Amino acid sequence: MTTVDDPCAVCGEAVEEEASVLCGVCDQRFHLNQRNDVDGRDCGEVWIDEQYLSLRFACFNCLGRATAAGEPPVGSGH
Ligand SMILES: [Zn+2]
Ligand SMILES: [Zn+2]
Repeated sequence: MTTVDDPCAVCGEAVEEEASVLCGVCDQRFHLNQRNDVDGRDCGEVWIDEQYLSLRFACFNCLGRATAAGEPPVGSGH
């Protein structure tokens, strides 16, 4: 793993080059686990652009999501 200089644009933590991508909107690096066989953090999404048939990446900042993706919101359990 090669840690890159820029931290994740979403969560602000260090990212490994192999486990991150550049956001297609803000052009900043964020966590994206591209492997299914290892656990990894996802701070954005990847999808296939149907028009250009190419992969698109966007961080949660640009998608307007909360940073804690996948984690249930902390609600009052009482
Ligand atoms: Zn992150
Ligand atoms: Zn972005």
